[in-house]
Amino acid sequence: MKIAFIGLGNMGGGMAANLVKAGHAVNAFDLSAEALAAAKDNGCETFTEAREAVAGAEAVVTMLPNGGIVKSVYQNDVIGHAPAGAVLLDCSTIDVATAKEVAASAEAAGYDMVDAPVSGGIAAANGGTLTFMVGGTEKAFARAEPVLQAMGKAVIHAGDAGAGQTAKICNNMLLAISMIGTAEAMTMAQKLGLDPQKFYEISSQSSGYCWSLNAYTPLPGVGVESPADKDYQGGFATALMLKDLRLAMEAAETSGASTPLGKHAQELYEAFATENGGLDFSAIIKTL
Ligand code: NAD
Repeated sequence: MKIAFIGLGNMGGGMAANLVKAGHAVNAFDLSAEALAAAKDNGCETFTEAREAVAGAEAVVTMLPNGGIVKSVYQNDVIGHAPAGAVLLDCSTIDVATAKEVAASAEAAGYDMVDAPVSGGIAAANGGTLTFMVGGTEKAFARAEPVLQAMGKAVIHAGDAGAGQTAKICNNMLLAISMIGTAEAMTMAQKLGLDPQKFYEISSQSSGYCWSLNAYTPLPGVGVESPADKDYQGGFATALMLKDLRLAMEAAETSGASTPLGKHAQELYEAFATENGGLDFSAIIKTL
């Protein structure tokens, strides 16, 4: 397929490279000359205008920082510029309301569109092992699925437009809460004199079992290897977790959902991110 890719940053760069590896012809556009040069090295054809990149594309993939940018890129450069009949895939993490609004404008102009945010960080983007949670019609999903499969290990249809973003922010709110809970329990066990490795062995096989403890242990030298063992470098940045928590709290407010722990998690990450936005989100344990 001929695929246009807009937004070749930390995530998009590796994703576009995987589309090339899967045999697709990729037209790349980014505002950053550095990102474009890297895309060229990875086999993409590069463009200095988004409109030129999408002209002639059968699919358009975007991986951009936020909802405002996604909306302006689709309104100004994709809708009406990509060929009629192209399938549009936004893989960015953005607010549910904007995802629905952009999809409605695209559909009104005759395009199939999905929101397809990802779980997995830069390593998964480079390795083609992302999980995609997808919102859109059955037809849009069926058209988007083969494109997403070239960049990931799992592609799940969550529901209608916006359902991918809903799944993503609810999942990440749960992750933030469970990481803080895991960090609290490990720190308290240690203060009470329990060997943290013993606590890990017991709780990871008991009802405290959860991904934050079992697969991403936040204490260095305890449990599985994780960013904690690399001084909290790499992994999933605190600033990105905070971004997702803000989106989650915005959605909680508009939907009338009661999320007291999500709100508290956001407050803790707001305070921590002021000076530690670049550290992995499990470093929140340092505050306890
Ligand atoms: P990034 O800042 O590294 O990349 C974004 C890219 O978009 C940059 O190269 C930037 O130049 C480009 N860009 C910005 N405005 C543009 C425009 N108008 N036109 C064209 N290009 C433009 O960010 P990232 O880490 O790659 O994240 C991208 C998205 O993926 C975000 O929505 C983020 O929340 C989500 N995400 C990131 C991670 C992660 O671990 N980094 C994990 C899951 C989801």
